[in-house]
Amino acid sequence: MTSAFPASWYAASLPEPAALPPLQGDVQADVAVLGAGYTGLTAALELASRGQHVVLLDAQRIGWGASGRNGGQALVGYGCEVDELERQLGRDDARHLFDWSRDAVQAMRTRIDRYGIDCHWREGHASVAIRARHERELRAHCEHLQQQYDYPMQWWDRQTLRGQLDSPRYRAAMFDPLSAHLHPLAYARGLADAARAAGVVIHENSAVTRVQRGPRPALHTAHGSVSAAHLVIAGNAWLQGLLPVLEHRIMPVGTYIGASACLGPERARTLIRNDMAVADTAWALDYFRLSHDHRLLFGGRASYSALPPPGLRGVMQRRMHAVFPQLADVALDQVWGGYVDITRNRAPHWGRLDGNLYFAQGFSGHGVAAAGLAGDVIAAAIAGQSERLDVFQRLKHAPFPGGRLLRMPLLVAAMSWYRLRDALW
Ligand SMILES: Cc1cc2nc3c(=O)[nH]c(=O)nc-3n(C[C@H](O)[C@H](O)[C@H](O)COP(=O)(O)OP(=O)(O)OC[C@H]3O[C@@H](n4cnc5c(N)ncnc54)[C@H](O)[C@@H]3O)c2cc1C
Repeated sequence: MTSAFPASWYAASLPEPAALPPLQGDVQADVAVLGAGYTGLTAALELASRGQHVVLLDAQRIGWGASGRNGGQALVGYGCEVDELERQLGRDDARHLFDWSRDAVQAMRTRIDRYGIDCHWREGHASVAIRARHERELRAHCEHLQQQYDYPMQWWDRQTLRGQLDSPRYRAAMFDPLSAHLHPLAYARGLADAARAAGVVIHENSAVTRVQRGPRPALHTAHGSVSAAHLVIAGNAWLQGLLPVLEHRIMPVGTYIGASACLGPERARTLIRNDMAVADTAWALDYFRLSHDHRLLFGGRASYSALPPPGLRGVMQRRMHAVFPQLADVALDQVWGGYVDITRNRAPHWGRLDGNLYFAQGFSGHGVAAAGLAGDVIAAAIAGQSERLDVFQRLKHAPFPGGRLLRMPLLVAAMSWYRLRDALW
């Protein structure tokens, strides 16, 4: 069955390509990949560039998952802070992971140029503080990255920030000149085009219903199978019981974005003069940026239920107006959402099972650049250079307590506490 592409400003702003044919019959490959998001597409592209025969299956369409719907903020780092990496891996390997994430943003830029992907790349990202506690923590983090990681992070006081961002809400910012933002679906489709040109065979509307593990593993769908020397599992938060050994370590959390009505170039530019992306540091964060056609793309509002929160558009609009009171006359034209795959410690969960099944998950809402890194790291490991994957695999991840039934209520309780803390101090 052919599935509709989820409605969003991203999908509306691009012509919809014809669907690629589903898998029919049993085929052989060097590598079989599950998932046509950034992780699976980058792994496939990098493997095909090394001469491997790759077949990639997606249950839906290319970029249908988080990769085609996200906030478009391509950030250095991971879902957790470097402190968690240092605690688990020590300072030297934490530094390696951080430097690789920095390389990952540059690698996106290189792919965009090499494959001519038209996805409106813009550099600059500000993490902004709402409360005095956020400002203290953010400043300490900024100095840590400057001093221990030699990262060119900048500290902006309120006045400097107001010179770029016309919002009364924020006290200060940590400005990152190397992180960037882009049209996420255009990037995913561009990666897919590059992968196909390199020889990757992609089947859309081909849900994997069984993963066969063992010496010659395979992905099975309702109408065929791909057996291969290696499997790559890049299904993010959508595996739905296919591989419980992985799924117990992540929690799917809904998060939402809206696109404002078109503001026109002049009004849009008064909001964010340097065209950077912005995210605050509150637990239930807001993040936003301008689109290339002069809308405000405004995200936030996590939900720990399978259903979108009631009155979502109104809630999102109120949050946008709290940041930009001058947009009181502006509505959100479209609102959409998707799942992020959080781990308990927000650190990435990447590795290998059985010696031939590779996976990457747990991007914890911070995967636009990191998922491409995961694909690259997995491709290198399959090609025999597993040094980087070995370091990621040393990160320990506890399963969510409560099993499949109780993990959600327990998480909601924990999140409510963090939200309350943000509201109070
Ligand atoms: C609303 C939203 C906003 C976000 N904003 C940001 C942001 O601004 N910055 C940032 O860094 N990160 C952000 N993220 C996170 C980021 O988008 C993801 O971490 C990243 O895209 C994950 O890529 P992926 O390839 O691992 O997974 P996905 O892009 O989700 O791809 C997984 C694919 O696997 C397929 N699949 C799953 N199960 C099967 C199966 N059984 N058979 C076949 N195919 C299957 C799905 O159809 C899907 O296409 C956001 C996420 C969301 C949802």
